[in-house]
Amino acid sequence: MFARNSVTSNKINLDTDFNIALAGNPNVGKSTIFNALTGLKQHTGNWTGKTVECSSGKAKIRDKSFLITDLPGTYSMLSFSKEETVAKGFLANNKTDCVIIVIDSNVIERNLSFALQVLSIQKKAVLCLNLCDEAEKNGICIDKDELSLNLGIPVVCTCASKRKGLKELKSVVYDVCTGKKNCFRVSRNFEGVDVLDNEHHKKNIETLADKSRKICSDCVTYNCMALNERVKKIDKILTSKTTGIPIMLLLFGMLFWITSVGANYPSEWLSILFDFIKSNLYNLFELLSVPSFITGLLIDGVYTTLTWVVSVMLPPMAIFFPLFSIIEDSGYLPRIAFNLDKFFSGCGAHGKQSLTMAMGIGCNACGVTGCRIIESPQERLIAILTNNFMPCNGRFPILIAIIMMFFAGSTFGIFSSLTVAAILLGIIVLCVLVTLGVSKLLSLTIAKGEASGFALELPPYRKPQIIKTIIRSLLDRTLFVLGRAVIVAAPAGAVIWLLANIYIGNTSILAYCTEFLNPFGQFIGLDGVIVMAFILGFPANETVIPIIIMSYMASGTLVEYTSYEQLLQLFTANGWTAVTAVCTMIMCIMHFPCSTTCLTIKKETGSLKWTLISMALPTIMGIILCIITDNIMRIF
Ligand code: GDP
Repeated sequence: MFARNSVTSNKINLDTDFNIALAGNPNVGKSTIFNALTGLKQHTGNWTGKTVECSSGKAKIRDKSFLITDLPGTYSMLSFSKEETVAKGFLANNKTDCVIIVIDSNVIERNLSFALQVLSIQKKAVLCLNLCDEAEKNGICIDKDELSLNLGIPVVCTCASKRKGLKELKSVVYDVCTGKKNCFRVSRNFEGVDVLDNEHHKKNIETLADKSRKICSDCVTYNCMALNERVKKIDKILTSKTTGIPIMLLLFGMLFWITSVGANYPSEWLSILFDFIKSNLYNLFELLSVPSFITGLLIDGVYTTLTWVVSVMLPPMAIFFPLFSIIEDSGYLPRIAFNLDKFFSGCGAHGKQSLTMAMGIGCNACGVTGCRIIESPQERLIAILTNNFMPCNGRFPILIAIIMMFFAGSTFGIFSSLTVAAILLGIIVLCVLVTLGVSKLLSLTIAKGEASGFALELPPYRKPQIIKTIIRSLLDRTLFVLGRAVIVAAPAGAVIWLLANIYIGNTSILAYCTEFLNPFGQFIGLDGVIVMAFILGFPANETVIPIIIMSYMASGTLVEYTSYEQLLQLFTANGWTAVTAVCTMIMCIMHFPCSTTCLTIKKETGSLKWTLISMALPTIMGIILCIITDNIMRIF
């Protein structure tokens, strides 16, 4: 979800000696190869549609420098989806010195048709037969020399995930670019097909399919399909009408349980450590005779906000994201999309929306960009407008913190951890139901249109690369989130501390603001501080809880608060009850998206109107639901 180091561009870079493009069907290992060649960290995962933009990175092979561009995965060059237009446009308009056509050796016939399409636009190319390890297990034997003769380009076998064959790939690419190896054409394979010719679209598809079939009969032999049978059996269970959804709920329930059990201990250790450092910092500042204003700003403002973010947010994120990435890498996510498709199509939306929702759990801005995998414009719009109903990693810890404080009990035994997991699972199910309800509403009103069919590839199951996935998701997701939180939380802590300590008359600026918002806050089951925290949390939701803490701290109720128990004391001393906790969780799920997501929605829809609707819709729903919940819960 985070292609942090990549450059999104489709311009040619003049600083490098050669320009290389990576083209291929989705989920064939292009990003894995791109990362191996460039050393970058493009997102990989076992499902179709995760790369929707071109990403570029540099590589050095021997004495030459290369700019490598990873094109979005496309099934063909003959139609007009967003990804295909980007990929085709790139190859047709740019001076690319060599295209690496990455194909999945398991489904070579279908992939070859794509390779032929690319070859009709690009002369210099290398065919990379990736996933050779799986093909071998599946009994698929490819004569790569014969294939090379048929296509007229060099062919290299790779197993990118184990970094096998990449040296040879680099060497061949180098040779093709520098002219040491030539690409020649055997005319029979390319006669009469011009993929840029839109008029004979259907005929072109058939001709190429015929040609790839012919090539395969020359170069490929199939020995046994035992593994495919096993995949079919597993799929029967995981996507069956009766067992599919219960297994999915069980799996996510377990994920939340492990997260909540596991996070509690490091949270506590970190909190003890930070308390210790804090008291020493106070002593040090006193020894150095630092003015109390500076001590307050730095320790009470910046330090305490940062330590909250680290001790309370980091542990659950560091457990949840690696586990989630392992599930993603195994190929299970598309099965979820398959299981949920009937619910989504019943609501005028597309099954692929569940994939974009899963991306939204990481980051809504990424989820919104990921909606490009949905072809139909109105279904894509629905997916974009509703993505914010999935709690992103800025809001997830708010939910976890509130559940830990108010519903897990003071001792953290097996039952309370199961309670946390069950509540979290319930919240996610609620988020999905809300998304479905709002999707239906939108499809009947402002986002009307023709529903499209469900076409999503179910990839083969793959043994996740556990260690690599854990390390990468820790670096890419957890530290990325933490870094963002720290960057926003530190200045936010300072600003809030200043607001709380600058007085106009006898009242601080913070108190003016919260008192102003208090009547509205109370009316919806919250208070002025919580409302203000959500407003000030617009740049990043990570700061919501620290802002609440800072504001309550300003009233001098408590000094230490890095553990959940201390937090609970602070919150209840400021009037929180279970009702406040529930209403805050509702508001957490249903309020305007963060500023980054809003900008992404504006970019993706190209319209201020839809951006404003995406902000107003959840906020109004959240307010109404809070009022209803507050009134109902007070009766009981
Ligand atoms: P992309 O959509 O083409 O960019 O594909 P990715 O690079 O994200 O890879 C898709 C999945 O295939 C990931 O789970 C990778 O870990 C896995 N993968 C990539 N190359 C290989 C390979 O050669 N062998 C095996 N077994 N898995 C691979």
